[in-house]
Amino acid sequence: MLQDYQLLRIPGPTPIPPSVERAMAQPMIGHRGSETSKMIQNIKPGLKKAFGTEQDVLMITGSGTSGLEAAIVNVVKPGDKVLVVATGVFGQRFTKICQAYQIDVEEFAVEWGTSLNPTAVKNYLKEHQDITAVFSTYCETSTGVINPVGELAKAVHEVSEALVIVDGVSCMGGIETKMDEWGIDVLVTGSQKAFMLPAGLNFIGVSDRAWKVIEDNPKKGFYLDLTKYRDNLEKDTTPFTPALSLLFGLEQVLKNLEAEGFEEVYKRHALMRDMTRAAFKALDIPLFTTDNDASPTVTAVKPADFDAEAFRKVLKTDFNLSVAGGQQHLKGQIFRVGHMGYCAPTDVLQTLAAIEIALVKIGKEIELGKGLAAAQKVYLEGANN
Ligand SMILES: *Cc1c(COP(=O)(O)O)cnc(C)c1O
Repeated sequence: MLQDYQLLRIPGPTPIPPSVERAMAQPMIGHRGSETSKMIQNIKPGLKKAFGTEQDVLMITGSGTSGLEAAIVNVVKPGDKVLVVATGVFGQRFTKICQAYQIDVEEFAVEWGTSLNPTAVKNYLKEHQDITAVFSTYCETSTGVINPVGELAKAVHEVSEALVIVDGVSCMGGIETKMDEWGIDVLVTGSQKAFMLPAGLNFIGVSDRAWKVIEDNPKKGFYLDLTKYRDNLEKDTTPFTPALSLLFGLEQVLKNLEAEGFEEVYKRHALMRDMTRAAFKALDIPLFTTDNDASPTVTAVKPADFDAEAFRKVLKTDFNLSVAGGQQHLKGQIFRVGHMGYCAPTDVLQTLAAIEIALVKIGKEIELGKGLAAAQKVYLEGANN
């Protein structure tokens, strides 16, 4: 097998652009020196753009989950009651973190594969005025669903004083996000998905309303205390040693996003979603979500008449192409194709071509090229408008 060849089409980690790899290979520098402050100054505006916020976006060293935990320990005060709107594994993660802190948490469960309904949450909150925070997931990676988090925030604020906390780890950087305009109070994302970096950094936007709650919170931990990150960021520094190599990379990622244009980046992701979905439709292989609920960064497919795991195995052995399986009860039931970050429409065509070969190899009867042609057509139409 060709060495060093990786086709990583899972919903994170994702491939790293060469310019970002080179940036990360820079010699180590002192984290209290002026080079680091300069780098942080350069990073701030790009992160604000990706978040759609006027607030400085905090950076914590740790994987995405540490960002979710930071959100919880900072905004939930002792005795508070919170609601988690769970659409899959990552929604449930919020619940699990709350339980680990013995927080009084209620889970509003949504059927896996569908998006949350803001009106239903609103009606629930009308009857439960004691809820102080509502947690939910922007892209539910386990099902490929994109949730209407802007509408959710609006609906929550209409009937309740609760803060709205959103996990945007698997889509931000690949989809337009307007944290301030939508009224999201705490928004978290990580480095290893559409941000095209290795795991190890997470980014957190915090609204003025959330800062008031956080400041009143007597118990916000030590490493994850967000006021420390805010106060240091104002001086272009961090409370603890940051993952400097990842910051070198992040500075380059933001340059690359700016050079392509954020709007273009978002259009590219939408196009890759549409190409992928068109291919499976043409092959008569069921998708796990409706078009309306489909994420621009990951597509979940639910085969009716072939073994998803055998199929994934052929992709891996023949091409070193990784697509993800299902999680929890969806294990063996679905597979998930990532198309985010350093991924172009031509990568989608390559993935689909390999997928068709793997389908034939496991004995599924398809017409070779049928899915690919459908994706090519979407590309041509997409390029027209
Ligand atoms: C990947 C992911 C996370 C973070 O997982 P880590 O392994 O801790 O980085 C959190 N939320 C969602 C929706 C994700 O896709």
